[in-house]
Amino acid sequence: MQAAVYRGRSVVSVEEVPTPEIGPGEILIRVEACGICHTDLKKIEYNLLEPPRIYGHETAGVVAAVGARVTRFRAGDRVVAFHHIPCQACFYCRRKNYAQCAVYKKVGITAGFEPAGGGFAQYVRVMDWIVERGVEKIPDGVSFERATLVEPLNTCLKAVTQCDPRPEEFVAILGQGPIGLMFTMLTHRTGARIAVTDTIGERREIAARCGAEFAWDPGALDVAAEIKRRTGGRGADLVIVAASVAGIVDQAIACSRPGSRILLFAQTSATERIEASGADICVGERTLFGCYSASVELQSESAHLVFGGELPVEELISHRLPLVKIRSGFDLALHPGPKSLKIIVQPQRCS
Ligand SMILES: [Zn+2]
Ligand SMILES: [Zn+2]
Repeated sequence: MQAAVYRGRSVVSVEEVPTPEIGPGEILIRVEACGICHTDLKKIEYNLLEPPRIYGHETAGVVAAVGARVTRFRAGDRVVAFHHIPCQACFYCRRKNYAQCAVYKKVGITAGFEPAGGGFAQYVRVMDWIVERGVEKIPDGVSFERATLVEPLNTCLKAVTQCDPRPEEFVAILGQGPIGLMFTMLTHRTGARIAVTDTIGERREIAARCGAEFAWDPGALDVAAEIKRRTGGRGADLVIVAASVAGIVDQAIACSRPGSRILLFAQTSATERIEASGADICVGERTLFGCYSASVELQSESAHLVFGGELPVEELISHRLPLVKIRSGFDLALHPGPKSLKIIVQPQRCS
């Protein structure tokens, strides 16, 4: 089969590799669509994990084969697969901090080499513990591309659940890439007022359609002053940081009121330093917190939201590319143009 193999910093080559073999309790999925995620890009551009690996964790496809003892699925089922499953028994799982579970971090899907998601390949092997608890059927009428959005939506739903925006609150969401836009959609459901920022005009237009009351270009006006003007001089009750550029956390604090909460969602690099006034946190009584990855507990709700059509998630898909063009997909995601948002790889397409 064909797969996009990570071979070292910034190098991904489309190669012929063996189709994975499955064991008892496992399934083989023929990958029809897999989204490109910023965490894939970081691993590839900053060489975070040893090569060779096959990345891609927003995977949807068709069950091609089932191992002995698999009863929930049969060949031909259309499915979306979660790639992590917590052990449910360790210190962190007992506290529902699933993303910190050591087992959770061991990826249960592989297209070969060290398990790493494998969605950027024509077939993936899904290990038994994922088959049991992490695979969802895709309803008729829902495209594979739409189904790939279950995983990223889950990560945002987990964060929004944690932030708990309330109807009377004013929420600022900095960055309106695919993740920022999902935050806008999910926050809109809570009834809170929303102001978003992005330098790309097309993204601001989509944000307005997704529920943002204000969509501003942070280069064109003083965002903190605009928010204060609309909140009795106070600032936002909640700020969600959904982009990582220098100075953005300082900007988030400037936009926020004393006693507010500030979520860091895009600060995934261990080398990125953030600068802020200590007094803004201590004297200003702000809560600065992080949230990362998806929650198995929210998987069925996420699937429901993506499949059910309540959220306009298909607006987020801008490009569909065959595997051979994956490098241009990475470049588009790294340097988004006015029209690029979520980029989906379709490994069964020849061109
Ligand atoms: Zn992702
Ligand atoms: Zn655990």
